[in-house]
Parts: sequence; structure tokens; C-alpha cells
Amino acid sequence: MTGLDELPPLREVVRVHGLDARKSLGQNYLFDLNLTRKIARSTGPLAGVTVIEVGPGPGGLTRALLREGAARVVAIEADRRFLPALEEIAGRAEGRLTLVHGDALALDLAALAGGGKARVIANLPYHVATPLIIGWLKSQPWPPWWEALAVMVQREVALRIVATPQERAAYGRLAVLAGWRSQASLIFDVPAAAFTPPPKVTSSLVGFLPRADPLACDVGALERVTAAAFGQRRKMLRQSLRTLGVDPLKLIAAACLQPTSRAEEAPVEAFVAMANRLAEQGER
Ligand code: SAM
Repeated sequence: MTGLDELPPLREVVRVHGLDARKSLGQNYLFDLNLTRKIARSTGPLAGVTVIEVGPGPGGLTRALLREGAARVVAIEADRRFLPALEEIAGRAEGRLTLVHGDALALDLAALAGGGKARVIANLPYHVATPLIIGWLKSQPWPPWWEALAVMVQREVALRIVATPQERAAYGRLAVLAGWRSQASLIFDVPAAAFTPPPKVTSSLVGFLPRADPLACDVGALERVTAAAFGQRRKMLRQSLRTLGVDPLKLIAAACLQPTSRAEEAPVEAFVAMANRLAEQGER
């Protein structure tokens, strides 16, 4: 990997190319090589692996993914200003780096992965992190095109992803979706000071492994039930589920819950049971 080692330091790249960080695009850079290496390694060895990186920016994590031996890195960047710096990396990556200029939310990442399995490893732009993660969790068909995700998000979002009914305040729609389709875990926290410029909050790297065989459930029905239940999370389910236009007691009974239960007490399986009952009602 000598070619990569000859690249200029990241701070110099940012200075020479005038890549001042833009808040509107969630630009907070990582320059610490130990940290980018740790993130690159967080899903295990990369030999033979295709990695999708959303938001390579000046390319610190991109370099680490290539140094760790990824077979192919597809880096999707919305801000054209970074392309010359990223092309310098591509020029030393022996054909392993593909650059895509565009909005990761609007692109078909499965197609960019080349039809095979891929991992997403990224320091995500925070303003689009949640919709990106929701999209990956809702992938069809399932099992999805991604075999692992390791993504940096705000710690508050990470806690909402890994929450269980025991952590009531954080437990909600995101935790139910994540818990249904994946095993999600907090890998490590990263202090704000590790980024340039530092964001206002602590960040966390969150890992997701897709469940091979999640409980059968219609994702649309699951989203309707969780939206109704957590939309009025302090209310009992017999009240909050009324907005679905079906008898809430039938859904609650299907999930073996008490009519007095609240959304934040219901485990993922209960939401799946309620969603399946809701879908059945719709078919009658
Ligand atoms: N990976 C770099 C690092 O760790 O130093 C930069 C990470 S920075 C938090 C997020 C990056 O995502 C920025 O480069 C930003 O321009 C890019 N970005 C923002 N919105 C995007 C989008 N919708 N699609 C793709 N990239 C986006």
C-alpha cells in the first residue's frame, strides 16, 4: 500500500484544496489515523470485501479502508469540492476506489455495490443519518445487500437505535425497526474533540448485523403501528392505537399485552404481532 502512504497529510489536503467544513452538509472531519483505522476495522477484516462509504469528505476514512485491504471502496460524496482530493487517493488505490458524486439518499446503493454483498462503513453526515439507516433496515428483498453496517452517528441517535423497553425514554420507532431486522450494538463513543470542527455532541459508532430470519412482518404495517403507539407514547395502547381505525383491543390481544400497556413497555415481538394483526384486518 505504498502509494497510499505517499499521500499528503489530511490537514494539508484540506488547506491546499480550500475544503472549509460546511455545517449544512454535516461536514466534521476525522484526521486521527488511529481512529480511522479503528473504524475501518470495526466490522472485521476487509480482505475481499466491498465497502460503501457515504460522505468520504477529504478521505481520511477512505484511506483507512483501502489500507486495511478492502477489495473495493465505493465512496459517495455529495459535495463536488472533495472530488480532486479523492481522485488523488483513487490514483494510488490500484483501481480499488470508485468515486460517486451524488446524494446517498437518492442513489441505489445495492446497484453501486455491484450486485454482491457489501458493508457500509461511514462517518455519516448527521442530517441524513437517520433516513439512510431506516432505508437500509427497510431493504427489500431480505436478507439485504449489506452484510454489516458500521456508522458514526450522534450518540443520542445511537442510543435510540439500541434501546430496549428498559430504556424507556430512548425506546421508540427506530429501536423497533432496528431490533426487528438486525442486531444493533454500540461499538464505541467518539468525543466531539476528535472531529474538525468539533460538533456540539458526542458521537458513537453503531454496528448492525442483518438478522438472517427476522419475524415475518409487513414493514408498512409495522411503521403504522409504531407511529400510532409512539406518537402518543404516554397514553395506554388502547387509546393511542385508535388512530389506526381498527379495534385496538384486537391488536393488543394478538400481542399478548394488557390494554393498559404503553408503547414503551412493548417488546419488538409485540409490535410485530400487532402489525401482523393490523395487516390481517386490512385484508378482511
Ligand atoms: N468521511 C469524512 C471524515 O470522516 O473525515 C467526512 C465525514 S463528514 C461527517 C460527512 C460527509 O458527508 C461530508 O463530506 C459531506 O459533504 C458528505 N455528505 C453530506 N450529505 C451527503 C449526502 N446526502 N450524500 C453523500 N454525502 C453527503
